[in-house]
Amino acid sequence: MGRRAALMPLLDRHDRPLRSLRISVTDRCNLRCSYCMPAAEYRWIPHEAVLRYEEILRLLHHFLRAGVRRVRITGGEPLLRLGLDNLVRMLAGLDGIEDLALTTNGVLLAEQAAALRAAGLGRLTISLDTLDRERFRRLTRRDDLARVLAGIEAAAAVGFAGTKLNTVVVRGFNEDEIPSLLAFGREHGVEVRFIEYMDVGGGTGWSEERVVPQEEILARVASAHGAPQPVAGRGSAPAARWRLPDGTVFGVIAATTAPFCADCDRSRITADGHWFTCLHATRGHDFRSLLRGPGPDQAIAHLIESVWRRREDRGAEEARARRLAGGPEPPAGADRHAEMHVKGG
Ligand code: SAM
Ligand code: SF4
Ligand code: SF4
Repeated sequence: MGRRAALMPLLDRHDRPLRSLRISVTDRCNLRCSYCMPAAEYRWIPHEAVLRYEEILRLLHHFLRAGVRRVRITGGEPLLRLGLDNLVRMLAGLDGIEDLALTTNGVLLAEQAAALRAAGLGRLTISLDTLDRERFRRLTRRDDLARVLAGIEAAAAVGFAGTKLNTVVVRGFNEDEIPSLLAFGREHGVEVRFIEYMDVGGGTGWSEERVVPQEEILARVASAHGAPQPVAGRGSAPAARWRLPDGTVFGVIAATTAPFCADCDRSRITADGHWFTCLHATRGHDFRSLLRGPGPDQAIAHLIESVWRRREDRGAEEARARRLAGGPEPPAGADRHAEMHVKGG
């Protein structure tokens, strides 16, 4: 497959290439964001089932041969994984990766930013939903806002450029902070991306009323900072980008009201080696058994190719169509892999 894939991109049934891969290195987290991990207790992936760094590397080798060029490390909270800079160093040394990024809640970033940068990590996305300590504590059930803010500063101090801030906007929680988060981003030289609250994962408290749609996000921005103008050239990126009159650029990920499945080149690997070809998928394809089984590595390459060629996923578009038609939602939480902290956002 390798030679052929290098010449001809592997396309799914909607002609979407396999380009962007998110690798979750743990399902555990040191926060409990109510939109992601609302339950009191979780059944964690057992340690022995979590892929070792060498296994991730072996798997990635095949994904790179199949066309992947952008890799994002995620979780759970990836910085909880011991020696993550070692994984970063191994990945950064691979031929074919054009963009190596990491999404983190930032709590442990101040301690690890320098090592991650030295290991060759390209970019960071840090999640921050509020600048208010009490709100942060209520949302995440931890009193760690100061550590996240220190993490954002540390990222800049060790030389990370192009850092993004992910802000999930939830009605009744933080829509009033849209202008101040934008101002914070401008002051710290980071691009804020407002994300519509998504109905993913098991048992989150999602409801349509709690979604703040893109139009309202833009209207709130406009009333505080002036009318934003669209920035051209989105490509397959999930965020539509906008520019304020003062030049500040920000993004909106309208995953709920204006899904972008038509251009989606993203897929996800869970910490225990299951491949999900859509954020809304409830079943993954098991690579761990192949990695640890007696079969040849060719079986991995074959699974990647055959699954991607058959891929038809348009999960967010279908969910939206169901809602517009007033149809019932499929049962959530049936498979723990469906949860966002397991799949990686
Ligand atoms: N723990 C890391 C973090 O929070 O940045 C990485 C994993 S987290 C699952 C990845 C991203 O998914 C975060 O930016 C988070 O805000 C986002 N996310 C989680 N649940 C979401 C939801 N229901 N709707 C929209 N975004 C969500
Ligand atoms: Fe919050 Fe990320 Fe942890 Fe989910 S995985 S609870 S979004 S910090
Ligand atoms: Fe891609 Fe699925 Fe998200 Fe649509 S819902 S953009 S197909 S991951």
